[in-house]
Amino acid sequence: MKFLKPPAPAATPDETWTSVPILLGIAIAVLVVALIYMWRRRRARIAAQRCQWRRAGGPSANLHKWYCQTCRQEAFSSGDKPPKECKRYLHSTAL
Ligand SMILES: [Zn+2]
Repeated sequence: MKFLKPPAPAATPDETWTSVPILLGIAIAVLVVALIYMWRRRRARIAAQRCQWRRAGGPSANLHKWYCQTCRQEAFSSGDKPPKECKRYLHSTAL
């Protein structure tokens, strides 16, 4: 059986070449939006989690080094307890 299709409208070389930058721009825009969306989701997920401090170093000059596994930040505290605030809160107002 033969399929009778109407012939596709042949694009002239000029039309194909002018549509390439537009398609490229749309593709880049979609990619950027997707990246921003993923980045914001990641930030929101990290913000919802509590900081999990892990001791990263012994006391030196009465300071204990801590490592936040949630935000991947290092911080120091003077006592035996982990820092109250993570460094992520210092950057949250930016942007
Ligand atoms: Zn943290």
